[in-house]
Amino acid sequence: MGKSMTASKSPLLLTPGPLTTSRSVKEAMLTDWGSRDKLFIEMNARIRSRLLNIANAKKGYVCVPVQGSGTFAVEAALGTLLAKSGEVLIIINGAYGRRMARICEYLGIAFETYETAEDTPPEPDQIARIIEGNHRITHVACVHCETTSGILNPIADIAYLVAERKRALIIDAMSTFGALSLDVQDVPCDAIVASSNKCLEGTPGMGFAIIRESTLEGCEGNARSLSLDLYDQWLAMEGNGQWRFTPPTHVIAALDQALEEHEQEGGVDGRGARYKTNCRTLIDGMRKLGFQTYLPDDVQAPIIVTFLTPGDANFDFGRFYDGLHEKGFAIYPGKLTKVDSFRMGCIGRLDEADMERAVKAVEEVLRDLGVKQHGPPLKKRA
Ligand SMILES: *Cc1c(COP(=O)(O)O)cnc(C)c1O
Repeated sequence: MGKSMTASKSPLLLTPGPLTTSRSVKEAMLTDWGSRDKLFIEMNARIRSRLLNIANAKKGYVCVPVQGSGTFAVEAALGTLLAKSGEVLIIINGAYGRRMARICEYLGIAFETYETAEDTPPEPDQIARIIEGNHRITHVACVHCETTSGILNPIADIAYLVAERKRALIIDAMSTFGALSLDVQDVPCDAIVASSNKCLEGTPGMGFAIIRESTLEGCEGNARSLSLDLYDQWLAMEGNGQWRFTPPTHVIAALDQALEEHEQEGGVDGRGARYKTNCRTLIDGMRKLGFQTYLPDDVQAPIIVTFLTPGDANFDFGRFYDGLHEKGFAIYPGKLTKVDSFRMGCIGRLDEADMERAVKAVEEVLRDLGVKQHGPPLKKRA
């Protein structure tokens, strides 16, 4: 893939999103669609149906898209699903879990949190105890892969215990949807929230929620926001196939093409396999250079990898970033609260050869910067 499939000047994005897309996905944005055009309305129906397919949610679930980035969709889902009298338990081990709590503060939704360290998955037993100790809890919200670190949370175990206790589950699957299996037959849940521009390899501008239809039917009047009311958005879309307000037409056209390419690659299994190879290639190559990953391999999702900042006094993230950018790669700063780190993603239109070239570029940039010690500072981790 690499160069031939991307515009000549743009670097490959080794980030948590937006991500590198194929040329054909970008080209799908060259048409100006009218939002009432019959072909556009068909396209809209097609993407909604394909998104349901990816979660094996054709029966009993609906797909409600919404304008904006992923956070808009998370905010819309929390604001629409939680009744005024509801209370949500938010499971936190990174920035995206914390963001859900922040959304609830803004919306005036009652919530409780269960937080573990950023390198530690939540304990299902602990979640069960919290639910049993608080009968006001109506919903549980959890991130599938917490992109802050790249950690994979045990979503199936959580889904079962939440379902057993008759609470509703909202999953932020933003950074996994389309690459890691999330089948509603195996992972019972009320809503899965994701966006157009991560593992689906579309362009940014649209989020969506896959919602259990019987749940959504009871959500009239819940929303704290007109534009983020997924109940109303759903009714309108079911009515005439159109969006309530100006749809991101170019983004939808790009997603339509991206979903076609997702299917051609073999769906979730095919895409997930490429990302796993990318991740393995990246981690093996970086470890060979002496870097340490923040997470142990058994909780690392094949999405984005956090590396500890080298202890060498010559290392400077700004110069490292610029050097890599010059060689055609964009990386991402760390977002951990306790440890100095940087992140390299392995999702988007990237393959094994791209990851090998990225590792080579890291080696060359560090040599140019005079950085010899690639491991973390030689002291105990905080
Ligand atoms: C990317 C992401 C989001 C949404 O972020 P936006 O910047 O609003 O697109 C939410 N949750 C997770 C886990 C993410 O990775």
